[in-house]
Amino acid sequence: MAIFNFFDDGKREPILMSGKKVAEEIKKRVAEEVQELKKQGITPGLAVILVGKDPASETYVKMKSKACKEVGIFSFVHRLPSGIRTEDLLEVIDMLNTSPKIHGILVQLPLPSHIDTNQVLERVAIEKDVDGFHPYNMGRLVEGLDGLVPCTPLGVMELFKAYKIPLEGQDVCIVGASNIVGKPMWALMLNSNATVDICHIYTRDLKEHTRRADILIVGVGKPGLITEDMVKDGAVVVDIGINRVNGKIVGDVDFDRVKRRASYITPVPGGVGPMTIAMLLQNTVKAVKMKKAR
Ligand code: NAD
Repeated sequence: MAIFNFFDDGKREPILMSGKKVAEEIKKRVAEEVQELKKQGITPGLAVILVGKDPASETYVKMKSKACKEVGIFSFVHRLPSGIRTEDLLEVIDMLNTSPKIHGILVQLPLPSHIDTNQVLERVAIEKDVDGFHPYNMGRLVEGLDGLVPCTPLGVMELFKAYKIPLEGQDVCIVGASNIVGKPMWALMLNSNATVDICHIYTRDLKEHTRRADILIVGVGKPGLITEDMVKDGAVVVDIGINRVNGKIVGDVDFDRVKRRASYITPVPGGVGPMTIAMLLQNTVKAVKMKKAR
Protein backbone atom coordinates (compact mmCIF):
# COMPACT_ATOMS: atom_id res chain seq x y z
CA MET A 1 0.00 0.00 0.00
CA ALA A 2 1.35 3.42 -0.97
CA ILE A 3 1.92 5.78 1.93
CA PHE A 4 0.77 8.75 -0.12
CA ASN A 5 -2.52 8.89 -1.81
CA PHE A 6 -2.85 12.06 -3.82
CA PHE A 7 -3.39 10.63 -7.30
CA ASP A 8 -7.09 11.40 -7.39
CA ASP A 9 -7.73 12.59 -10.96
CA GLY A 10 -5.69 10.05 -12.86
CA LYS A 11 -2.74 12.46 -13.12
CA ARG A 12 0.42 10.87 -11.88
CA GLU A 13 2.92 13.63 -11.50
CA PRO A 14 5.10 12.99 -8.48
CA ILE A 15 6.26 15.77 -6.22
CA LEU A 16 9.86 16.68 -7.04
CA MET A 17 11.95 16.86 -3.89
CA SER A 18 14.14 19.83 -4.69
CA GLY A 19 17.34 19.53 -2.74
CA LYS A 20 18.45 22.70 -4.42
CA LYS A 21 15.61 24.68 -2.86
CA VAL A 22 15.84 23.11 0.58
CA ALA A 23 19.63 23.52 0.60
CA GLU A 24 19.27 27.24 -0.11
CA GLU A 25 17.01 27.61 2.93
CA ILE A 26 19.48 25.70 5.10
CA LYS A 27 22.36 27.81 3.82
CA LYS A 28 20.48 30.98 4.80
CA ARG A 29 20.03 29.62 8.32
CA VAL A 30 23.70 28.58 8.52
CA ALA A 31 24.80 32.04 7.31
CA GLU A 32 22.83 33.63 10.17
CA GLU A 33 24.44 31.28 12.67
CA VAL A 34 27.88 32.11 11.27
CA GLN A 35 27.15 35.83 11.70
CA GLU A 36 26.18 35.19 15.34
CA LEU A 37 29.42 33.29 15.94
CA LYS A 38 31.44 36.04 14.28
CA LYS A 39 29.90 38.55 16.68
CA GLN A 40 31.30 36.37 19.45
CA GLY A 41 34.73 36.50 17.79
CA ILE A 42 34.62 33.01 16.25
CA THR A 43 34.94 32.43 12.52
CA PRO A 44 34.08 28.81 11.72
CA GLY A 45 36.93 27.26 9.73
CA LEU A 46 36.91 24.25 7.42
CA ALA A 47 40.05 22.56 6.07
CA VAL A 48 39.64 20.44 2.97
CA ILE A 49 42.34 17.95 2.04
CA LEU A 50 42.56 17.07 -1.63
CA VAL A 51 45.08 14.44 -2.68
CA GLY A 52 45.87 14.24 -6.39
CA LYS A 53 43.99 15.71 -9.32
CA ASP A 54 40.88 13.58 -9.76
CA PRO A 55 38.57 15.84 -11.83
CA ALA A 56 35.36 14.82 -9.99
CA SER A 57 37.02 15.46 -6.62
CA GLU A 58 38.30 18.82 -7.89
CA THR A 59 34.73 19.77 -8.82
CA TYR A 60 33.31 18.71 -5.44
CA VAL A 61 36.02 20.60 -3.58
CA LYS A 62 35.34 23.74 -5.63
CA MET A 63 31.62 23.49 -4.88
CA LYS A 64 32.30 23.03 -1.16
CA SER A 65 34.69 26.01 -1.03
CA LYS A 66 32.20 28.21 -2.87
CA ALA A 67 29.42 27.23 -0.48
CA CYS A 68 31.63 28.02 2.54
CA LYS A 69 32.31 31.47 1.12
CA GLU A 70 28.60 32.09 0.56
CA VAL A 71 27.77 31.50 4.24
CA GLY A 72 30.89 33.16 5.68
CA ILE A 73 32.81 30.04 6.73
CA PHE A 74 36.59 30.34 6.35
CA SER A 75 37.84 27.45 4.22
CA PHE A 76 41.20 26.36 3.00
CA VAL A 77 42.09 23.59 0.52
CA HIS A 78 45.28 21.63 1.19
CA ARG A 79 46.30 20.30 -2.21
CA LEU A 80 48.64 17.36 -1.82
CA PRO A 81 50.45 15.35 -4.51
CA SER A 82 48.91 12.00 -5.53
CA GLY A 83 52.12 10.19 -4.55
CA ILE A 84 52.07 11.43 -0.93
CA ARG A 85 52.86 8.79 1.69
CA THR A 86 50.22 7.91 4.29
CA GLU A 87 52.56 9.11 7.08
CA ASP A 88 52.91 12.53 5.47
CA LEU A 89 49.17 12.86 5.02
CA LEU A 90 48.70 11.91 8.68
CA GLU A 91 51.11 14.70 9.62
CA VAL A 92 48.98 17.26 7.77
CA ILE A 93 45.92 15.99 9.65
CA ASP A 94 47.77 16.21 12.99
CA MET A 95 48.62 19.82 12.22
CA LEU A 96 44.98 20.63 11.41
CA ASN A 97 43.74 18.72 14.46
CA THR A 98 45.58 21.20 16.68
CA SER A 99 44.96 24.36 14.65
CA PRO A 100 42.65 26.71 16.62
CA LYS A 101 41.36 28.29 13.39
CA ILE A 102 40.06 25.00 12.05
CA HIS A 103 36.81 23.52 13.37
CA GLY A 104 36.17 20.99 10.63
CA ILE A 105 38.43 18.73 8.58
CA LEU A 106 37.30 17.02 5.42
CA VAL A 107 39.38 14.51 3.52
CA GLN A 108 38.05 14.36 -0.03
CA LEU A 109 37.52 10.73 -1.05
CA PRO A 110 38.54 8.60 -2.82
CA LEU A 111 42.19 8.68 -1.82
CA PRO A 112 44.82 7.09 -4.10
CA SER A 113 44.90 3.31 -3.63
CA HIS A 114 48.33 3.25 -1.93
CA ILE A 115 46.95 5.29 0.98
CA ASP A 116 45.29 3.57 3.91
CA THR A 117 41.95 5.42 3.88
CA ASN A 118 40.73 3.95 7.18
CA GLN A 119 43.88 5.03 8.98
CA VAL A 120 43.52 8.53 7.55
CA LEU A 121 39.85 8.89 8.50
CA GLU A 122 40.57 7.59 11.98
CA ARG A 123 43.28 10.23 12.46
CA VAL A 124 40.84 13.16 12.10
CA ALA A 125 40.01 14.56 15.56
CA ILE A 126 36.53 13.30 16.44
CA GLU A 127 35.29 16.81 17.26
CA LYS A 128 36.49 18.13 13.85
CA ASP A 129 35.15 15.16 11.87
CA VAL A 130 32.55 17.10 9.86
CA ASP A 131 32.13 14.21 7.42
CA GLY A 132 31.21 11.92 10.33
CA PHE A 133 33.37 9.08 8.98
CA HIS A 134 35.43 8.47 12.14
CA PRO A 135 34.53 5.09 13.72
CA TYR A 136 33.73 6.91 16.98
CA ASN A 137 31.16 9.13 15.29
CA MET A 138 29.77 6.19 13.30
CA GLY A 139 29.37 4.30 16.58
CA ARG A 140 27.50 7.20 18.15
CA LEU A 141 25.24 7.35 15.12
CA VAL A 142 24.42 3.65 15.33
CA GLU A 143 23.62 4.05 19.03
CA GLY A 144 21.34 6.99 18.23
CA LEU A 145 23.49 9.51 20.12
CA ASP A 146 23.97 13.11 19.04
CA GLY A 147 27.12 13.86 17.05
CA LEU A 148 28.56 14.54 13.63
CA VAL A 149 26.68 12.52 11.00
CA PRO A 150 27.81 11.84 7.39
CA CYS A 151 26.56 14.64 5.16
CA THR A 152 24.84 12.74 2.35
CA PRO A 153 22.52 10.55 4.45
CA LEU A 154 21.93 13.49 6.80
CA GLY A 155 20.92 15.57 3.78
CA VAL A 156 18.42 12.88 2.76
CA MET A 157 16.91 13.06 6.27
CA GLU A 158 16.58 16.84 5.95
CA LEU A 159 14.79 16.38 2.64
CA PHE A 160 12.31 13.99 4.27
CA LYS A 161 11.78 16.56 7.01
CA ALA A 162 11.26 19.41 4.53
CA TYR A 163 8.71 17.41 2.51
CA LYS A 164 7.07 16.01 5.66
CA ILE A 165 7.60 12.38 4.67
CA PRO A 166 6.64 10.17 7.61
CA LEU A 167 9.26 7.54 8.42
CA GLU A 168 7.99 5.67 11.45
CA GLY A 169 6.87 2.15 10.61
CA GLN A 170 7.57 2.58 6.88
CA ASP A 171 9.23 -0.14 4.85
CA VAL A 172 12.48 1.38 3.62
CA CYS A 173 14.87 -0.20 1.14
CA ILE A 174 18.38 1.19 0.81
CA VAL A 175 20.39 0.07 -2.20
CA GLY A 176 24.14 0.52 -1.67
CA ALA A 177 25.87 -0.30 1.60
CA SER A 178 29.05 1.80 1.65
CA ASN A 179 30.40 3.32 4.87
CA ILE A 180 29.75 6.83 3.61
CA VAL A 181 26.26 6.45 2.16
CA GLY A 182 24.30 3.23 2.72
CA LYS A 183 25.36 2.22 6.23
CA PRO A 184 24.83 5.61 7.91
CA MET A 185 21.56 5.94 5.97
CA TRP A 186 20.51 2.59 7.44
CA ALA A 187 21.31 3.79 10.97
CA LEU A 188 19.40 7.07 10.53
CA MET A 189 16.36 5.27 9.17
CA LEU A 190 16.42 2.65 11.90
CA ASN A 191 16.72 5.40 14.52
CA SER A 192 13.62 6.98 12.94
CA ASN A 193 11.72 3.75 13.62
CA ALA A 194 11.49 2.63 10.00
CA THR A 195 11.86 -1.03 9.04
CA VAL A 196 15.02 -1.09 6.97
CA ASP A 197 16.22 -3.44 4.30
CA ILE A 198 19.72 -2.80 2.93
CA CYS A 199 20.89 -4.24 -0.40
CA HIS A 200 24.26 -4.43 -2.10
CA ILE A 201 26.15 -6.07 -4.93
CA TYR A 202 25.62 -9.54 -3.45
CA THR A 203 21.87 -9.17 -2.97
CA ARG A 204 20.33 -12.08 -4.87
CA ASP A 205 17.08 -10.58 -6.12
CA LEU A 206 17.26 -6.79 -5.88
CA LYS A 207 13.82 -6.22 -7.36
CA GLU A 208 12.22 -8.43 -4.74
CA HIS A 209 13.49 -6.00 -2.09
CA THR A 210 12.99 -2.67 -3.86
CA ARG A 211 9.41 -3.49 -4.88
CA ARG A 212 8.32 -3.82 -1.26
CA ALA A 213 9.60 -0.40 -0.23
CA ASP A 214 7.43 2.57 0.72
CA ILE A 215 10.68 4.55 0.60
CA LEU A 216 13.45 3.56 -1.79
CA ILE A 217 16.88 5.14 -1.35
CA VAL A 218 19.55 4.35 -3.93
CA GLY A 219 23.26 5.15 -3.72
CA VAL A 220 25.25 2.81 -5.94
CA GLY A 221 26.84 4.57 -8.89
CA LYS A 222 25.17 2.61 -11.71
CA PRO A 223 23.02 4.63 -14.11
CA GLY A 224 19.66 3.04 -14.88
CA LEU A 225 19.96 0.43 -12.10
CA ILE A 226 16.46 1.13 -10.79
CA THR A 227 13.78 0.62 -13.40
CA GLU A 228 10.04 1.24 -13.20
CA ASP A 229 9.14 -2.39 -12.50
CA MET A 230 11.35 -2.34 -9.39
CA VAL A 231 9.37 0.42 -7.71
CA LYS A 232 6.18 0.10 -5.69
CA ASP A 233 3.25 2.23 -6.75
CA GLY A 234 3.32 5.52 -4.84
CA ALA A 235 6.79 4.99 -3.37
CA VAL A 236 9.08 7.82 -2.32
CA VAL A 237 12.25 7.51 -4.39
CA VAL A 238 15.54 9.15 -3.43
CA ASP A 239 18.41 8.92 -5.88
CA ILE A 240 21.84 9.53 -4.37
CA GLY A 241 23.82 8.26 -7.36
CA ILE A 242 25.95 10.62 -9.42
CA ASN A 243 27.08 9.32 -12.80
CA ARG A 244 28.39 11.07 -15.87
CA VAL A 245 26.80 9.70 -19.05
CA ASN A 246 27.57 11.36 -22.39
CA GLY A 247 28.59 14.54 -20.59
CA LYS A 248 25.36 14.64 -18.55
CA ILE A 249 24.98 14.01 -14.83
CA VAL A 250 22.43 11.30 -14.04
CA GLY A 251 21.54 9.23 -11.00
CA ASP A 252 21.01 5.50 -10.52
CA VAL A 253 17.26 5.67 -11.15
CA ASP A 254 15.63 5.62 -14.58
CA PHE A 255 14.01 8.94 -13.69
CA ASP A 256 11.67 9.43 -16.67
CA ARG A 257 9.98 6.07 -16.20
CA VAL A 258 10.20 5.67 -12.45
CA LYS A 259 8.52 9.04 -11.94
CA ARG A 260 5.35 7.47 -13.36
CA ARG A 261 5.13 5.27 -10.25
CA ALA A 262 6.64 7.46 -7.54
CA SER A 263 4.72 9.83 -5.27
CA TYR A 264 7.86 11.82 -4.45
CA ILE A 265 11.16 11.67 -6.30
CA THR A 266 14.51 13.49 -6.20
CA PRO A 267 16.00 14.81 -9.45
CA VAL A 268 19.68 14.38 -10.37
CA PRO A 269 21.20 16.93 -10.42
CA GLY A 270 19.43 19.20 -7.94
CA GLY A 271 18.39 16.53 -5.44
CA VAL A 272 20.68 15.01 -2.85
CA GLY A 273 23.88 16.69 -4.14
CA PRO A 274 23.12 20.23 -2.90
CA MET A 275 21.87 18.78 0.40
CA THR A 276 25.23 17.09 0.97
CA ILE A 277 27.00 20.43 0.69
CA ALA A 278 24.47 22.20 2.92
CA MET A 279 25.01 19.50 5.57
CA LEU A 280 28.76 20.03 5.43
CA LEU A 281 28.22 23.69 6.28
CA GLN A 282 25.75 22.78 9.00
CA ASN A 283 28.16 20.21 10.48
CA THR A 284 30.98 22.77 10.52
CA VAL A 285 28.86 25.17 12.55
CA LYS A 286 27.78 22.26 14.75
CA ALA A 287 31.45 21.41 15.37
CA VAL A 288 32.03 25.00 16.56
CA LYS A 289 29.04 24.82 18.90
CA MET A 290 30.10 21.45 20.27
CA LYS A 291 33.56 22.88 20.99
CA LYS A 292 32.03 25.89 22.74
CA ALA A 293 29.82 23.64 24.85
CA ARG A 294 32.75 21.52 26.08
P1 NAD B 1 30.70 2.68 -3.32
O1 NAD B 1 31.25 2.17 -4.60
O2 NAD B 1 31.57 2.83 -2.13
O3 NAD B 1 29.49 1.73 -2.87
C1 NAD B 1 28.56 1.26 -3.79
C2 NAD B 1 27.58 0.33 -3.10
O4 NAD B 1 26.67 -0.13 -4.08
C3 NAD B 1 28.25 -0.93 -2.49
O5 NAD B 1 27.63 -1.22 -1.26
C4 NAD B 1 27.93 -2.02 -3.51
O6 NAD B 1 27.81 -3.31 -2.91
C5 NAD B 1 26.60 -1.55 -4.05
N1 NAD B 1 26.32 -2.05 -5.41
C6 NAD B 1 27.14 -2.01 -6.49
N2 NAD B 1 26.53 -2.56 -7.56
C7 NAD B 1 25.29 -2.92 -7.14
C8 NAD B 1 24.19 -3.53 -7.78
N3 NAD B 1 24.24 -3.88 -9.07
N4 NAD B 1 23.08 -3.76 -7.06
C9 NAD B 1 23.01 -3.43 -5.75
N5 NAD B 1 24.02 -2.83 -5.08
C10 NAD B 1 25.16 -2.59 -5.78
O7 NAD B 1 29.98 4.05 -3.68
P2 NAD B 1 29.56 5.27 -2.72
O8 NAD B 1 30.73 6.07 -2.39
O9 NAD B 1 28.66 4.77 -1.65
O10 NAD B 1 28.69 6.12 -3.76
C11 NAD B 1 27.53 5.58 -4.35
C12 NAD B 1 26.96 6.58 -5.34
O11 NAD B 1 26.52 7.72 -4.64
C13 NAD B 1 27.95 7.08 -6.38
O12 NAD B 1 27.26 7.31 -7.59
C14 NAD B 1 28.42 8.39 -5.81
O13 NAD B 1 28.88 9.29 -6.80
C15 NAD B 1 27.15 8.87 -5.17
N6 NAD B 1 27.33 9.84 -4.10
C16 NAD B 1 26.57 10.94 -4.16
C17 NAD B 1 26.67 11.88 -3.18
C18 NAD B 1 25.78 13.07 -3.25
O14 NAD B 1 26.06 14.07 -2.62
N7 NAD B 1 24.68 13.01 -4.01
C19 NAD B 1 27.55 11.73 -2.13
C20 NAD B 1 28.32 10.55 -2.05
C21 NAD B 1 28.18 9.61 -3.06
